Amino acid sequence: MRIAVQKFGGTSLATQELRSRVYEIIRNTRDEGLNVVVVVSAMGRKNDPYATDSIINLVKEINHEPEPREMDIIMSCGELISGVVLSSQLTAMGIKARFFTGEQAGIVTDGNFNKAHILYVNPKKILECMEEGLVPVVAGFQGIGENGEWTTLGRGGSDTTASALGVALNAEVIDIFTDVEGVMTADPRIVDNARLLDAITYNELCQLAREGAKVVHPRAIEIAMQSGTPLRIRCTFSESMGTLITHQTHDSMDPVKFISDRLITGITYTSNIAQVKINSQSLQDKKGLELKVFRSLALAGISVDFINVQPDLIMFTVAEDAAVRTLEVLKTIGLHPDIELHCAKVAVVGAAMTGIPGVMAKVVEALEESNIPILQSGDSYTNIWCLLKREHMEQAVKALHDKFELGNK
Ligand code: ADP
Ligand code: MG
Repeated sequence: MRIAVQKFGGTSLATQELRSRVYEIIRNTRDEGLNVVVVVSAMGRKNDPYATDSIINLVKEINHEPEPREMDIIMSCGELISGVVLSSQLTAMGIKARFFTGEQAGIVTDGNFNKAHILYVNPKKILECMEEGLVPVVAGFQGIGENGEWTTLGRGGSDTTASALGVALNAEVIDIFTDVEGVMTADPRIVDNARLLDAITYNELCQLAREGAKVVHPRAIEIAMQSGTPLRIRCTFSESMGTLITHQTHDSMDPVKFISDRLITGITYTSNIAQVKINSQSLQDKKGLELKVFRSLALAGISVDFINVQPDLIMFTVAEDAAVRTLEVLKTIGLHPDIELHCAKVAVVGAAMTGIPGVMAKVVEALEESNIPILQSGDSYTNIWCLLKREHMEQAVKALHDKFELGNK
């Protein structure tokens, strides 16, 4: 059976008119001889009535620390609503559809509330549905633990549902439909002349996504990559073919040319970061300080990043919403660090940049020309990142995008 899994993000499902466009896309794909399995996110974006954030607030307004189990159940509701609405509309418009919860679709997770991983998929009911000639519409972002508890997969989890289903069903392609043209050299909401990348390797996209390009979830890319299932990022509102993600392969426009990892693929950002600095110069007893710091934070379940340990200085970052707790924990071991709130990280990502001289010089040049102070920096094989004040983030992304000449001319 030839199958395409097509996932639609929240903005693609928000109104009846938009859902008519989704109907057209599914109809066209079926006309090409493919059976479509649809995966949906919750409708709309923040502040929309049926968006996941709005549903979460219903509980958080009355209880700041609700049970994770209860939260996962209420957080699963957004996809139930959008899924049933879409399947009803598809049926009304002439494509018979049937809705499935994550559990009904056979999505089995490790049972971790809020950040579950999919262990396996048992797509029996989905296959039966297609054999009846119906289009299955599956709730993304949710699955059932082996203990029978409902769990959610974390931000961007519907992408992961689509990938896992695509692999389990041996799909020809997994299409992630969203509100931008495809994968671009930077977030088009920030950079006006960001360029569409029409073909990109799994490796490159994984790096971009890990560094903050939220256009698709990194886990979804890894799952598709393992089985080599082609993945496409496409726009619901245009006819363009978007971005094709494959292993190193031929350029879609030029069959002779190979696409391979680029020197620089794009610029990414993440915000809501706090920087913590512990100056140990004046401390009496420094023995084992690093161990004490990181062990106590680990015990408190606080995840640290961008760690930089020097003889008299320990620097790292935490998520901004963990800043207060970080200070409390460090106080219990007698430390009163400096904390810089409202930071952001920008990264220059390129899977082939390793060993190429001059990339950091250009990064520094771009930021200096814009008078943007660098609070901390670091690098890996595939990226160079800088920590900045949040207020400089947009400007830094634009300056780096210009400096590396990534945009449309
Ligand atoms: P959906 O609700 O469809 O899952 P998301 O909001 O999760 O959509 O992801 C799409 C958004 O990703 C775009 O609206 C865009 O602002 C953002 N984005 C960030 N970086 C990039 C990039 N490099 N290319 C394309 N989009 C990006
Ligand atoms: Mg998304």
